[in-house]
Amino acid sequence: MSDLLARHRAVMPNWLALNYSEPIEIVGGKGNRVVDASGKTYLDFFAGILTNMIGYDVPEVREAVERQIATGVVHTSTVYLLRGQIELAEKIARLSGIPDAKVFFTNSGTEANETALLLATYARKSDEVLAMRQSYHGRSFGAIAVTGNRSWKNSSLSPLNVHFLHGADRHLAQFRGMSDADYIAACVDDLRHVLATEAAKGVAALIAEPIQGVGGFTMAPDGLFAAYKEVLDEEGILFISDEVQTGWGRTGSAFFGIQNHGVTPDMMTFAKGLGNGFAIGGVVARGDLMDGPHAVGLSTFGGNPVATAAANATLDYVLDHDLQANALRTGTLIIEGLKEAAARLPVVGDVRGKGLMFAVELVDPATGAHAPALAARFMELTKEAGLLAGKGGLYGSAIRMAPPLTLTGDEAREGLGIIVHALETINAEVT
Ligand code: PLP
Repeated sequence: MSDLLARHRAVMPNWLALNYSEPIEIVGGKGNRVVDASGKTYLDFFAGILTNMIGYDVPEVREAVERQIATGVVHTSTVYLLRGQIELAEKIARLSGIPDAKVFFTNSGTEANETALLLATYARKSDEVLAMRQSYHGRSFGAIAVTGNRSWKNSSLSPLNVHFLHGADRHLAQFRGMSDADYIAACVDDLRHVLATEAAKGVAALIAEPIQGVGGFTMAPDGLFAAYKEVLDEEGILFISDEVQTGWGRTGSAFFGIQNHGVTPDMMTFAKGLGNGFAIGGVVARGDLMDGPHAVGLSTFGGNPVATAAANATLDYVLDHDLQANALRTGTLIIEGLKEAAARLPVVGDVRGKGLMFAVELVDPATGAHAPALAARFMELTKEAGLLAGKGGLYGSAIRMAPPLTLTGDEAREGLGIIVHALETINAEVT
């Protein structure tokens, strides 16, 4: 065990997740690669945790932050006018497609979701909320309450009444072999049933991730969210799209994940990649919801000048370089390559994703059962070969990958080669 790992274990909680059995210490980064304390470099196919959206050591971001620090004001208070904050809010409101949108900034995705839930429950005078099975929304009481993923749900105490709906989870016997259309009809039937039988009061909102991040990049079939939205509109229930992982063009085919489904939500929450590593999150919502008196208080640090300088530079970079198109191009190359490999490697149970957000599910070839041990083996093999990925999913058997949106075609091919080689190695070991 390295000296640093021993020190980590001595002072950090032992539930704190570390990705590898021998975790690395990252000491530097450039472009889409990071370097560890031994000098070894890695292609970062997890972008931090989808945080380094445009790669490492980006001059535009560094200079914007340095310019802000050079003013002498790292942060005064959010009770004064902050130019960077207003400019960022204008951009996000415009990109959101939400009518009369307003933006409230936080420091994290958890706080963003907490804020959205506060706004929705306040507006609808109800503590009843709909959420999705296998979801993850953060680690505060409210965010955990709407989390439907047992491996991340570390509290059963809830400030909300939550009803969980079907979406990306299609494992139940009753759903097997169903067409998407039949599955969507069954889900909508279930939603109507929940509303008619379980929900005592008016329901405030549905919160959902367009692609479930921590859940293993699992996706509801196209058409499900639009079908749910029809019911929600009939009932006056608000729709909150959690875009913490899916925002900013990552899915390639839309700027925010929910736009892939032709649905305009009432609110979106965001965080992760916006500051390219600097902590910033927030909510963009219809103005009438945002202006509910007393609904949200002040956030001392949310949208502070340094974070907004980084975020403005990052967002401008994404738009100026059309990184959404790059996500589609490079992501499609990788997903198609993975699908080809999966067709001949029984150890790969599933390949899924959109743009630069894709996953492989490792299974026991004999039984088809989820294989977390093989996912752990994949992580070690790819780490050795110089690529970082993320492990996850409900069963710990999904490998999640979401490189920076700046990934080049050559890096996409290099990463694909490393991934396929690791899958071939594991396949040979177990078949
Ligand atoms: N929502 C989603 C979809 C997430 O994936 C996460 C974190 O992984 C969060 C919310 C919580 O964000 P944070 O860790 O910044 O609080």
